[in-house]
Amino acid sequence: MPKFLYAPAPESRAVVDIRSSYGLFIGGEFVESAGGDSFKTINPATEEVLADITEASAADVERAVRAARAAYRGVWGRMSGADRGKYLFRIARIMQERAREFAVLETIDNGKPIKESRDVDIPLAAAHFFYHAGWADKLEHAGLTGGAGVPARPLGVVGQIIPWNFPLLMLSWKIAPALACGNTVVLKPAETTPLTALLFAEVCQQADLPPGVVNIITGAGATGQALVEHPDVDKLAFTGSTEVGKAIARTIAGTRKRATLELGGKAANIVFDDAPIDQAVEGIVNGIFFNQGHVCCAGSRLLVQESAHDEVIAKLKRRLATVRVGDPLDKNTDLGAINSQAQLKQIRELSAVGEAEGAERWSPPCDLPVKGFWFPPTVFTNVSQTHRIAQEEVFGPVLSVLTFRTPQEAVAKANNTPYGLSAGVWTDKGSRILWMADQLRAGVVWANTFNKFDPTSPFGGYKESGYGREGGRHGLEGYVTTGGGR
Ligand code: NDP
Repeated sequence: MPKFLYAPAPESRAVVDIRSSYGLFIGGEFVESAGGDSFKTINPATEEVLADITEASAADVERAVRAARAAYRGVWGRMSGADRGKYLFRIARIMQERAREFAVLETIDNGKPIKESRDVDIPLAAAHFFYHAGWADKLEHAGLTGGAGVPARPLGVVGQIIPWNFPLLMLSWKIAPALACGNTVVLKPAETTPLTALLFAEVCQQADLPPGVVNIITGAGATGQALVEHPDVDKLAFTGSTEVGKAIARTIAGTRKRATLELGGKAANIVFDDAPIDQAVEGIVNGIFFNQGHVCCAGSRLLVQESAHDEVIAKLKRRLATVRVGDPLDKNTDLGAINSQAQLKQIRELSAVGEAEGAERWSPPCDLPVKGFWFPPTVFTNVSQTHRIAQEEVFGPVLSVLTFRTPQEAVAKANNTPYGLSAGVWTDKGSRILWMADQLRAGVVWANTFNKFDPTSPFGGYKESGYGREGGRHGLEGYVTTGGGR
């Protein structure tokens, strides 16, 4: 096959201005920590240290929650929906104006390809604010009222903890609906990707958002835990690992706190032999190699009908040979860096287990950069359901291939995991799509496509993938009460 070469097309870094150190964003301003430590955030593609980040202490969490409570009582909880909407629109517009800055910063801090941060993460993040700005003055028309027409009211102060795979986008999924419904928030970004959340804090200042409505506290697991345990937090919204999600549920059991948990997944991407195979191959690639496979709803298990197996795998391998792995800031890059050394270790370990358990491992030839954290696109064939790579979330660019003969077998295998976040179905038959969607225990089922997101569409899981929905009208339900407010 001819090899296509691409000249480097690096996006300029000049648009971002990374400070050497950052404080915490509490009460509308950047403040020093009360007794907290600091840690460094690095560029995972180069291991370059980017900035010193404050590790918020329990005293800082206390300060942030107090600021959020004061803002809730004093301003935000009383403001009309129409006025709240104006602030959300303003934030959305500023995010669009500063989109390039956000995209470059996200790519530097996270390792994801610039074409994804530029074309997916940042536009979708702004879209979440636009969408929820529209809801802010229409909540009484959202069907959220309790019996006897009791109007929906905000919950109060919401603690939000987000992961590193879509830093700004997850922030938007959390903050936009919370604010639209009249809550104030304390958000903790992931330890390895705090920079776009801190830039978002500047956007809040630029938008003249009343102080304390949004508070951003950086830190690691202990900071998150202090937020979870804080007695004056009314609700927790968490996205991350199932393990930490379960720990949060245990901690708040027996308290008045509410929670929505968006946890892991092990999605089946199911390809029938009547599917348009070339399109399905693109969907398989997008399903598992988008964002280095650091996606909770990634199509990490390919279930392919036995009669189409050889054709699909041959075409998939040919396609993967064209995937460009390397500098995330290069506009031609398809697969960027793994987000952290720890995540790389997990991917390597689980891949070694896959081999040891007897699956067949394949990667296209690719030159990985020497510095930074890298893993090639990897396909395991001959995977059986009991293999750990068919059951556990690898959270990397690793695809496990299984086969099936009948639709019933496809459903049984697809549902055979502790998770239930998403699934994909590729077939020519509309009736089969509907039947499959009905049988699959997954919060989202994509048909002849994969990894499509929209703020109007609710997202969330079954089983150990968590509970609650984000996005759409359903996502608002997690941020209001139809009983008494506080
Ligand atoms: P975590 O669940 O640990 O991280 C998610 C967020 O929770 C981060 O902000 C994290 O802080 C915080 N956190 C960690 N411990 C606690 C705690 N005890 N109480 C409150 N908050 C806490 O995910 P990891 O980053 O450790 O990734 C581990 C695995 O989880 C991945 O390999 C992947 O399989 C899965 N994962 C799934 C995601 C999803 O979207 N479903 C997203 C991310 C990971 P900090 O960053 O400082 O640790």
